[in-house]
Amino acid sequence: MKPATGPITYKSGMSVGDFANELKRPAADIIKKLMELGTMATQNQSIDKETAELVCLEYGLELIEEEVTDPSRFEELTIEETEEDKVSRPPVVTIMGHVDHGKTTLLDTIRSARVTEGEAGGITQHIGAYQYAKDGKAITFIDTPGHAAFTEMRARGASITDIVVLVVAADDGVMPQTKEAIDHAKAAKCPIIVAVNKMDMPGANPERVKQELTEFELVAEEWGGKTVFVEMSALKNEGVDDLLEMILLVAEVEDFKANPTRAAEGTVIESKLDKHRGPVATLLVQNGTLKAGDSIVVGTTYGRIRTMNDDLGNKLDTVPPGTAVEITGISDVPLAGDAFKVFDEEREARTISETRAHRSWREEFSGGKPMSLDEMFANAAEGDTKLLRIIVKGDVHGSIEALKSSLESIDVEGANIEILRASVGTITETDVSLASASGAIIIGFNVRPSAAVRAIAEEKHVEIRLYNVIYKTLEDIELALQGMLDPEYKEVVIGQAEVRDTFKVSRLGTVAGCYVTSGVIVRDALVRLLRDGVVIYEGKLSSLKRFKDDAKEVKQGFECGMMVENYNDIKVGDVIEASTMKEVER
Ligand code: GDP
Repeated sequence: MKPATGPITYKSGMSVGDFANELKRPAADIIKKLMELGTMATQNQSIDKETAELVCLEYGLELIEEEVTDPSRFEELTIEETEEDKVSRPPVVTIMGHVDHGKTTLLDTIRSARVTEGEAGGITQHIGAYQYAKDGKAITFIDTPGHAAFTEMRARGASITDIVVLVVAADDGVMPQTKEAIDHAKAAKCPIIVAVNKMDMPGANPERVKQELTEFELVAEEWGGKTVFVEMSALKNEGVDDLLEMILLVAEVEDFKANPTRAAEGTVIESKLDKHRGPVATLLVQNGTLKAGDSIVVGTTYGRIRTMNDDLGNKLDTVPPGTAVEITGISDVPLAGDAFKVFDEEREARTISETRAHRSWREEFSGGKPMSLDEMFANAAEGDTKLLRIIVKGDVHGSIEALKSSLESIDVEGANIEILRASVGTITETDVSLASASGAIIIGFNVRPSAAVRAIAEEKHVEIRLYNVIYKTLEDIELALQGMLDPEYKEVVIGQAEVRDTFKVSRLGTVAGCYVTSGVIVRDALVRLLRDGVVIYEGKLSSLKRFKDDAKEVKQGFECGMMVENYNDIKVGDVIEASTMKEVER
């Protein structure tokens, strides 16, 4: 291979290996160069443009950036639409509120009102969304009451809701989940319409509800505020029409639009594996028009749309933006919150879904979505101002107030703090899901999360920081804002093995016959392949065996057979190093 002499093309997100290929030099050379430049990297890690530029400078080469709009990252591309192309679309509404305040009843009332109004069909089936239409105007309702769906969706980066209807029972008033719903809606920047429900109850006191909600900046219009309040009874179907009208009115003001002429894209609302129909998904079309027969990428899977139907069982040929539809024809079950997009060719859809699957595996492996303080800042630093979102939980009101106001007064140039919630109590699962959905961290002041909550936080990569002195909290957050905190997790090497022999197994790849020289090698550990002290590859094991049997772990002094997932170029003398991620106390 003769080293490149001409200009080098930099592609966004390219790996060190790809970059080495561009330079026509061995990856190990580039890795060494990077080390000299103070960067430790492996072949399959991505290299940023600045670093690539430095390496090119070292070799006396010019670096040019390729303006790629990577089609496999379609949910990240922003599409500029001209005003002429856009038409109004139905608003997408989620109903939230405290348990037993009437969310399900309201969804049912609206659904059956629609059926009796003469829309075709009779038996409705749950597909996760349905549409209400009146006088040529439609509203799409997300048919899963409660907050879990909403937060899960946002945690995965999807935003599907245009308007939140907050149901508050007039005889019960603002309750804990009412507050949570408000937090969620505000974090998602969704307009809120308040439905004061159960007006038929003897103890109904709508004025009290209005009074209580002023505390959350939801002030009724007749009290000089901007929030729409509708008094109703979901059970008796009274005032529900007013609510629907108000939704349409808010939608008109907000002016939700989309371009129906494009290839469709949007988000998965629900999915399942049907015994007879195969993978089934309910898609919310957010832009473009979805057509039967379209080649589609959904999350990390793909296919051609075989059938499309709504919740009334109507077969559809085209689905306009702002509408949800149940589809079949994809090869695997996607996840709720996954993005989808239609492509011209099935072949293209297939390649793109494969790229996405591979990337998703890689991200999962490298620890999922960046959520630690530093990573958040590394991300935010690309924008102009950094924003740190915080949820504060504490033991007494006084200390929370003090902490909140001191946090708000921290002044670091180019950085802002947004306190999503500050309340008395221990750290709960709900705090974690709000944090996960909003990319926030949680500060516990004199409170500690239970082991279960800690586990959920870990799984969702939500950072929880515990303190008992205010100044220490402020000091840490200030440091964090300046981007100086150490990571919460550290990789810990747990063992090393030496490759003493290699065998090729047809179709499977290379098996490395190893001897564990120190510690322990664990089946699901992160492994690095070292050659002369340089990291050649980083990945997972695809197999760990003692003689012919699969092993969970193999300890020092024992021999074993290993295969590295997606890597076969293992040589005698290589060292395989296993490590795991461990939380470190600061
Ligand atoms: P969700 O937990 O918010 O989904 O609440 P549900 O819709 O399941 O309602 C809880 C209970 O309140 C049920 O027994 C409903 O029949 C009742 N309910 C709902 N809306 C009304 C209403 O407007 N008036 C009265 N009296 N009861 C209602």
